[in-house]
Formats: sequence, C-alpha cells, structure tokens
Amino acid sequence: MEQEKKIKKIGVLTSGGDAPGMNAAIRAVVRTAQYHNVEVIGIRKGYNGLINGEIKEMRSKDVSNVMNLGGTILHTARCPEMMTEEGVNKAAAIYKILGLDALVVIGGDGSYRGMAELAKRGVNCIGIPATIDLDMNCTEYTIGFDTAVNTGMDALNKLRDTSSSHERCSVVEVMGRDAGYIAVWCGMVGGAEDVMFPEEKEKIDSAKVIQQILENRSIGKRHNLIVVAEGVGGTQKLAKDIQEITGIQTRATILGHLQRGGSPTATDRMHASMMGYHAVKAILEGQQNRVVSYNRGRYEVLDLAEALNMEKHLDREIYDVIKVLAI
Ligand code: ADP
Repeated sequence: MEQEKKIKKIGVLTSGGDAPGMNAAIRAVVRTAQYHNVEVIGIRKGYNGLINGEIKEMRSKDVSNVMNLGGTILHTARCPEMMTEEGVNKAAAIYKILGLDALVVIGGDGSYRGMAELAKRGVNCIGIPATIDLDMNCTEYTIGFDTAVNTGMDALNKLRDTSSSHERCSVVEVMGRDAGYIAVWCGMVGGAEDVMFPEEKEKIDSAKVIQQILENRSIGKRHNLIVVAEGVGGTQKLAKDIQEITGIQTRATILGHLQRGGSPTATDRMHASMMGYHAVKAILEGQQNRVVSYNRGRYEVLDLAEALNMEKHLDREIYDVIKVLAI
C-alpha cells in the first residue's frame, strides 16, 4: 500500500484523568507500530509533554510487563496551556519539529477537544477513548470503566458484610461528577436499594429514600445499601439524616480515587489492546483526525469532528431494574 510507506513516525500520549487500561493501549500502539516498522515517540504528562518536549522513543521492550499495571507509564496531566491559542500553536509546532505523521491521544472528552484544536493546525490526531466515567458520546465503551466498576463492587461487597453484621445502613459515594454510569452499574451489581446519580439530581428526594429504608426494614431487611454519585454529593449529610430520622446506625464511605487505580480487568485490557491496534491501523491506512470507538459490538473508526457532536444518554432502564430488584 502506498500510504503505508508515508507513515514513519507517530507520537502517543495519555491525557486528562487516568484510567486503568491506558498502559495496555500504549502497549498496543507501540507494538502495532513497530510491527509495521513505524517509530513511536512516547510523550510524557499529556499535552504538557508535547509543549515542553518531554519525549522518549518507545520500543517493544519499553512496554513489557505494563499491561497489568494501573495508571499510565507515560503519566498524565491536565494542561491549562492547551486552552490558550499560544499553547495549542506551540504544541502543533513541536509536532511538526518532531516530524510526527500522527498523534495518538489516549484520554477523555477534554482530551478529544484538545485534539480538535490541534487538528485545525495540521496535526493528524487519532483518539482512543479512556475514562473511568464512560461519559464519551461517541463510544459505548471507554477504557477504565470496567475496572472502576469492579473496584466499586468489591467495596460494596465488603461494606455489605459489615453493615449486615451490625444491621446498619451504608451510604457509599462512587466516582462520577457529571455522569451516573459508574453509580448505576455499582448500584446494580452491588445490590443497592437506591442510587442517586447526576442525570437525575433535580428529581432526588432524600425524604423518599429514607421512607423506603424504613419500609424495607419493616418487611425484614436488616441492612441497607445506598449508592451516591460524586456529582450528587451530600453523602455525609444524607448518612446523618438517615441516622437521625430512622434511628438506624448509618455510615458514609467515600471511595474517591480508589476507583481510579488497580490492575485493569480482562475487559479493559481487551478493549485497550484492540483500540490501540485499530488506532495505528487507521493511521497506516492514511486516515486523518479520527477516533476509535466501540459501538454495537464492533470497533469502528469515526471522524473526530462528528464524534464530538454525537449524543449518548444513560440507559435509565438500569435504574428502573435496580428498583424492581431492591424489594
Ligand atoms: P479528560 O480528557 O479526561 O476529559 P480533561 O477534561 O481535563 O480530561 O482534558 C484533558 C486536557 O485536554 C486538558 O487539561 C486540556 O489540556 C485539554 N483540553 C480540554 N479541553 C480543551 C479545549 N476546549 N481546547 C484545547 N484543549 C483542551
């Protein structure tokens, strides 16, 4: 293929919030590229490393034994400079000085917006979706989600043991500032009685939740588990209110950044490996400014601008089923 000859050197970086599985994606990018005799430049600390030239060549051996590691070996960061004209121009200029034919960005929505700015300045950007929150409209899966949910589920299992022994109520705050995907998944797989998530923040009625706890106790439930998404907040206050109103001992637990870490699950390693492979394949085919997505059971490569305009909504049915199964 004629196009294949043109691609000599690509860059890869991880940006924004870290997510378990990012390393598996880096590994797949590096190894797929090397398989096709393409040089890979690893860029440290997200867009910061591009602006400041913090780079290193990456070969197959540099990504040995990393698939099982959480976090990102390239490190990640927010980069306020990218929000300025000067910063983006500088990043695009360094890309050209480095002689890169494409830049693979592994990150979330914000990182994709940074890519769109770079694309306007002649940088060929290819995105791989990675965020524990699952809140990217162009894809049904984002790297890190499954690990985060499994970590949440483990925590809920443990809290269930102790709250059941003491006949307590447990209010557990999980990650998710703007999106409730983690919360509803944790609620379902952890067997929670109720879930409070950002998409329905306005509809939340604490009095109703407390009433439900009392009703559940009256029909024989000996402990209660409530999941609250970070973006809803008020976890400590809710626990206090439940205890005061019902007289049931109630504890609040905030999982916080625990959910960002950990060795990636098989699902995350699989998606990260496949997406990394597809990203490099798209570059080799001569595709420009694309993102790799997973939709309807298949990996697909979408146009970056179109991807940023897509819409996706939390499937409320999960919440409805949680309520049915909570009886
Ligand atoms: P995530 O990629 O996980 O959503 P952020 O929203 O923090 O994380 O975005 C990561 C980085 O992407 C930001 O620190 C910034 O450097 C860059 N970025 C975000 N939005 C824009 C934008 N509109 N223009 C340029 N760069 C952006």
